[in-house]
Amino acid sequence: MRIGIGFDAHRFVEGRALVLGGVKIPFRYGLEGWSDADVLLHAIIDAMLGASGAGDIGERFPNSDPAYRGASSLDLLRMAKETVGKRGYRVVSVDSVVVLEEPQLRPFRDEMRGRIASVLGISAGDVGVKAKTSEGMGFAGRREGVAAYAVALLEEA
Ligand code: MG
Repeated sequence: MRIGIGFDAHRFVEGRALVLGGVKIPFRYGLEGWSDADVLLHAIIDAMLGASGAGDIGERFPNSDPAYRGASSLDLLRMAKETVGKRGYRVVSVDSVVVLEEPQLRPFRDEMRGRIASVLGISAGDVGVKAKTSEGMGFAGRREGVAAYAVALLEEA
């Protein structure tokens, strides 16, 4: 068994779609970034890469590479799963926390879990997605952006 941890943060901007856990969420802001800026999937990808000893998301998917401009992070997650697989591991489970004041993620949570699970080839029950506010403190509390934390558990394939 190997465990990995991931963190990511992106800034709110106008004029972009908000995509979290592979699900488009209606909101007045989206997140700034080279890809679709799916902060939750980026944290999960980093946890998986870290657990497998494959470095980090910036090395695997450089934001200088035009191939990843506007990329769907679900595709990046799929590629990260392949990277982990080539190193002899499969994902057992993932847990995560998204830190934001708004919007409410509860209505979208099961859809996120389902999308992540289907890419990783595990069941939705093995994917945790929790949303927390930071009680008005810090950048998430000031509604400047969204942060996400994730852990991934891998086993030898
Ligand atoms: Mg990111």
